[in-house]
Amino acid sequence: MNVYDSARMADVLAPLGYVPVSAPDDADMVILNTCHIREKAAEKVYSELGRIRQIRDRRAGQGRATVIAVAGCVAQAEGEELRKRAPIVDIVLGPQTYHRLPEMVARVARAGDGVGVVATDFPVEAKFDELPEASAPQGPSAFLTVQEGCDKFCTFCVVPYTRGAEFSRPAAQILAEARKLVAQGSVEITLLGQNVNAYRGAGPAGTRWGLGRLIRALAEIPGLARLRYTTSHPRDMDEALIAAHREVPSLMPFLHLPVQSGSDRILAAMNRGHRAADYLALVARLRAAQPAMALSSDFIVGFPGETEADFAATMELVREVEYAQAFSFKYSPRPGTPAALAEDQVPDEVKTERLHRLQDLLWQQQRRFNLGLVGRTIPVLLDRPGREPGQLAGRSAWLQAVHVDAPSALMGRVVEVTVRGATLNSLDGRLPAPAAMEEAAA
Ligand code: SAH
Ligand code: SF4
Repeated sequence: MNVYDSARMADVLAPLGYVPVSAPDDADMVILNTCHIREKAAEKVYSELGRIRQIRDRRAGQGRATVIAVAGCVAQAEGEELRKRAPIVDIVLGPQTYHRLPEMVARVARAGDGVGVVATDFPVEAKFDELPEASAPQGPSAFLTVQEGCDKFCTFCVVPYTRGAEFSRPAAQILAEARKLVAQGSVEITLLGQNVNAYRGAGPAGTRWGLGRLIRALAEIPGLARLRYTTSHPRDMDEALIAAHREVPSLMPFLHLPVQSGSDRILAAMNRGHRAADYLALVARLRAAQPAMALSSDFIVGFPGETEADFAATMELVREVEYAQAFSFKYSPRPGTPAALAEDQVPDEVKTERLHRLQDLLWQQQRRFNLGLVGRTIPVLLDRPGREPGQLAGRSAWLQAVHVDAPSALMGRVVEVTVRGATLNSLDGRLPAPAAMEEAAA
């Protein structure tokens, strides 16, 4: 989501003459787009600002000014505090105000040194109505935000506070942006939202569309070969969306469906709103609808009060689901969230040890899933240059990285690739006979 937001900030600044540069030394303005989800991510902002300060001083020595902005959820959460702790920051802007960047830049430029702008309100005007049309092409695989914010208030999570209430963009706006992305050469679109399957956007003639309906409409766009969406909440996985997995061939059979824990006691304390058995039943329905479906999840270990028995329940759930991929984190207390105040915090050594056990299991599953594809021929979207000259890299339907010897003419195409080898993190593939390759390129 931050990648998408950064691209939109570039769009909003383009009319002012700003273009992205590859090195911060060349930048008249540096925008750090930040994440507040765990303490580690938030702390990184301050170490980065230390580095940027040196760049700014070096440039000042050459008589060049540098505007420094901090955007995103750390900006939203810290507001004015951020400028107190890091006075070099000129602009602090939350995720809901980046359409106003041009006026903030103008204000800072007018006011000169020492005067800053802090914009962390949730403005009444809808950001997406104010933003210019996306201008820079995103490449073969593109992101498109359809939903933002969260009303679920899991007790560990800052998102409802930093990103605000749930909001869905109107379907027509999303369809127009998707058509534009395809016209610019994108063949895959990943629909984004903190709770993307809570999507309830305005459809035609006063109707409301859920995500399943939206996906069906997007699937009609000629040239759009692949659709994905992330991140989903188990509670919002409705029948229409499951049916889309059964019936829409361009909807990829891979789903990131975070469960966080396998213990009902911990799930309740987290306010997730479902039990482990509900999640397993949902996974079964998804697999029945789409037999090729592979799953990924997020896990938190060491949530306050988590016992060895609770953790064992998480390990058991993982064994039952058999994931293709997953992210796992040690619980990180976040300011302002209820769980941070709980008295039964789990010691860090215990969290570390549980994280290792969980990751060992998840990595075994991931390796097994990847190895299971060796010898099979699968479609791969080649979307970037490879590691070696003469190679391209791409993604399988299940989002694995695939490396292939392939001519650059195949960039941006979905091609059949025979999997020769697999490691934990990627697949090695080979194109079929050269004749078939030429045909594919034609
Ligand atoms: N809306 C998504 C998750 C968004 S946050 C959902 O409900 O699943 C992305 C992930 O960060 C979460 O799934 C969770 O695993 C992790 N996370 C969020 N807050 C955290 C915290 N305080 N400590 C550790 N991990 C956290
Ligand atoms: Fe955070 Fe996701 Fe829970 Fe919302 S549903 S509070 S984003 S973890």
